[in-house]
Amino acid sequence: RKPAELFPGRVNSAGIDLNDEATLKTVLEAVTKSESFAATALVSGQPVTGDPKSVVNPATGAKVGSVIEAVAYDVRRAIAAATAAAPAWNARPVEDRAACLERLADLLEENRPELLRLAVQEAGKTVGDAVAEVREAVDFCRYYANQARTSLAPEILPGPTGECNELRLVGRGVFACISPWNFPLAIFLGQITAALVTGNAVVAKPAPQTPLIAHLAIQLTHKAGIPADVLHFLPGGVEVGDAIISHTGVNGVAFTGSMPTARAIARNLLKDDNRPIVPLIAETGGLNAMIVDSSALPEQVVADVVTSAFRSAGQRCSALRLLVVQEDIADGLIRLLTGAMDTLVLGDPADIRTDVGPVIDAGARDKLEAYRQSMKANWVHALEKPTLSGTFVPPTLIRLEKVEDLTSEWFGPVLHVITWKAGELEDVVARINAQGYGLTMGLHSRIKATADAVSDMARVGNLYVNRSMIGAVVGSQPFGGEGLSGTGPKAGGPHFLMRFVSERTISTDT
Ligand code: GLU
Repeated sequence: RKPAELFPGRVNSAGIDLNDEATLKTVLEAVTKSESFAATALVSGQPVTGDPKSVVNPATGAKVGSVIEAVAYDVRRAIAAATAAAPAWNARPVEDRAACLERLADLLEENRPELLRLAVQEAGKTVGDAVAEVREAVDFCRYYANQARTSLAPEILPGPTGECNELRLVGRGVFACISPWNFPLAIFLGQITAALVTGNAVVAKPAPQTPLIAHLAIQLTHKAGIPADVLHFLPGGVEVGDAIISHTGVNGVAFTGSMPTARAIARNLLKDDNRPIVPLIAETGGLNAMIVDSSALPEQVVADVVTSAFRSAGQRCSALRLLVVQEDIADGLIRLLTGAMDTLVLGDPADIRTDVGPVIDAGARDKLEAYRQSMKANWVHALEKPTLSGTFVPPTLIRLEKVEDLTSEWFGPVLHVITWKAGELEDVVARINAQGYGLTMGLHSRIKATADAVSDMARVGNLYVNRSMIGAVVGSQPFGGEGLSGTGPKAGGPHFLMRFVSERTISTDT
């Protein structure tokens, strides 16, 4: 049977086929176009004035556009306008709000060439990653629209004769959506659309590195029918973030980014004793491991390791950081892996042959480079530095002794490897759990009992067995972790919308 019959309401985008020559030609023309994009903060749809800051392409250093960021005064105006607009937006039928998300999905597909260009030029995404990014944004819109239709309907609950009990799910008021640069369209819009469809007004802050694609996304969202005073755009750095979070008019926060920032937000939300405790949905990082036993198929393991650790230049919070291989097959597997690493092409992501693009900026490059150099004695393999001017980090494989030697999340194409001996599997999983993070884990084993045991033991949000461990699909692989990796609920899953609503029970004696 067709997926639509098996899973009614499943509406994931088909994306586009880069193997089709005409499609590829159009895409490559789009991503190599040079045109300056001007972004500004938008309060009730109105641009702010101020000094534009340049936004540069991390692969080439070329200017892609400029942004006028918000200041604290804009944050206050935006939250005041959002607070005033929220009740009327919340009173609109769910169907109206869901229809806006579906119109947005269509507009994203219509504007795909410009979105791809900005994902490549502003965020340094490879063409393949940029295509996946737009597709995921489209999927979030359609999935949350459908979820809202089915899960936000009021419910009549049982009670004694003569009493009517109605349970309503309503927006909380103003939601702050704070998103990362590594999914500057998909996560940015995923948070915003979830908050909007549940009846909240939104103030949205993109990462300072990627305001351009975010600005275009906001314009399209307004065009799709979201009123200008219901959605405000506040690009900027940590001062803007702090001003948003400390404002007592904010009734909930959706955040994706680093654990230290999530902690700072949580603290900030609790600073004012008179403020209600509001929900914080935090999706943070991980020290993600993949366990490989001696029954695994080496060629498949290598392909999945390369994808999980080095694609997207390792800049996914789901990415593989620690490969944990059974000793008996380690030497052979590492030989195959280093061979596969040698075939990776580092370069300008606008070139279709590129496998690994730049990291996001010079700060990220310098941190990763300092770490790589500090670990030089442990290098198993490292690619050459490219002679390109951009912020590139060569894929590197580093040997460690034990799970605990990996102490922080290195957000780039740096993979670590350790080995384990037969009989130590449980201990290995326990040690990985004990690190405290719990985002993704990979397992390669052809032994069903092993897969079952690891599935039961692993304290992670997403476990991937005999496949790569990145690229969670909306509606199929709800994404998000536990412990130090975040609070849940999972993005792209059936429970995500619930954290954005308040529940109200209306009991009437009839
Ligand atoms: N959802 C993405 C994936 O499955 C990762 C999201 C992130 O890096 O924040 O690869």
